[in-house]
Amino acid sequence: MTRRPENIVVVGAGLAGLRSAETLRARGFDGRLTLVGDETHLPYERPALSKELLAGKRSPEQLALRQPEFFREQQIELLLGRRVEKVSPKHRTALLSDGRELLWDALVIATGARARRMRGVETPPGVHYLRTLSDALALRSELVRGKRLAVVGAGFIGAEVASTAVALGLDVSVVEPLAAPLERVLGTEIGMLLAERYRAQGVDLRLGTGVTDFACGPDGRLRALELSDGSEIVCDVAVVGIGAEPAGELLGAPAIETDASGRTEHEGIYACGDVASSWRPSLGRHLRMEHWTSAAGQAAAVARTILGEESVHDDVPFFWSDQFGLRLQYVGFASEWASIDVEDDGDTFSVRYLGEDERLLAALVANRPGELAGLRRELAASAVVSHTTSRDERELEAV
Ligand SMILES: Cc1cc2nc3c(=O)[nH]c(=O)nc-3n(C[C@H](O)[C@H](O)[C@H](O)COP(=O)(O)OP(=O)(O)OC[C@H]3O[C@@H](n4cnc5c(N)ncnc54)[C@H](O)[C@@H]3O)c2cc1C
Repeated sequence: MTRRPENIVVVGAGLAGLRSAETLRARGFDGRLTLVGDETHLPYERPALSKELLAGKRSPEQLALRQPEFFREQQIELLLGRRVEKVSPKHRTALLSDGRELLWDALVIATGARARRMRGVETPPGVHYLRTLSDALALRSELVRGKRLAVVGAGFIGAEVASTAVALGLDVSVVEPLAAPLERVLGTEIGMLLAERYRAQGVDLRLGTGVTDFACGPDGRLRALELSDGSEIVCDVAVVGIGAEPAGELLGAPAIETDASGRTEHEGIYACGDVASSWRPSLGRHLRMEHWTSAAGQAAAVARTILGEESVHDDVPFFWSDQFGLRLQYVGFASEWASIDVEDDGDTFSVRYLGEDERLLAALVANRPGELAGLRRELAASAVVSHTTSRDERELEAV
């Protein structure tokens, strides 16, 4: 049996880092606990950045997940504004950007993901990315009624920013190289259903074309997007929403592979949240999610596992998105499907993604929250459960 740790360091003060630290305390861990985050803000609700915060409906303070006294009461040493630059699995140390070295006997890596940058083009002033509260505040200051916003990428973040900007009275264009918004996750048919809605709300949606460059005015600020079809979109401000990249560099790879309990291949090192590609017994594969509920669930499982209460995180995946008057809620996981069933009454719709055998793989509901619980039950009942973990597989291979 492994010894219960006495000194735990958590890297990354987002949802997963916070949730793992608070679960450790809630489950009775009374040793030294340090939470290190490179942002200067208290851990906060990241999903609100493209929604209520950008819309001016909630302030930065209202997004804080916990207040300073929580960390004092729980005796969690919160080190903000500092990066962990390096970890040594061998010496069990973590080197901080302020030069401090922390010792640990268990380390949780919850470093999340970063906004993917556009490669090969210069981004002039006026072009924004959106991942952090600081990014959101900088963007918000530029979203002024009557201005022209161009959004690069019709993924979830691009769509939410476009939706918020339309509500704020901006003139909004969205550019997407694929044939439909959200095509990779929801498929072309559902993407086109959403495209109609975006256009009905006044969005100038350009599909099947990409951005090749940003044109600047004489002041050096953004003036227009140049597109691969030869056209341009004149704009005052742009947001690039072309996905996120996991921040797993502390262990030398973008994403960190774990077993279903969050263990990495290094003894004493765990990973959870957006950075982790965790083994999902019910899907029989590793999966990296970029969703709030997965990050929270994985973090709680990691904390329990560290304390010797072996805990597997394998619930039915779930995420939501708020855009153009729709609350989209997606349960399950389908990277491909044989067919879809759509039920659409104009204001609300639901979609079932089915496998070859008509088995439900995933479902999307729009403004139909009442259907979720039943869908979850159906998905949980039809899951293919594989009891082999990745670690078991590696050990079997080694024998
Ligand atoms: C704009 C936006 C909207 C979203 N909306 C939704 C939504 O509607 N629904 C949904 O399900 N999900 C949504 N998400 C995704 C959700 O926010 C993430 O899944 C969740 O935040 C993941 O939590 P995490 O703790 O793993 O990572 P993060 O929240 O990214 O936190 C990781 C933290 O670690 C820090 N860090 C990284 N490296 C280091 C280091 N070396 N040292 C110290 N600190 C470090 C990072 O700066 C960050 O503060 C949204 C995300 C964004 C950006």
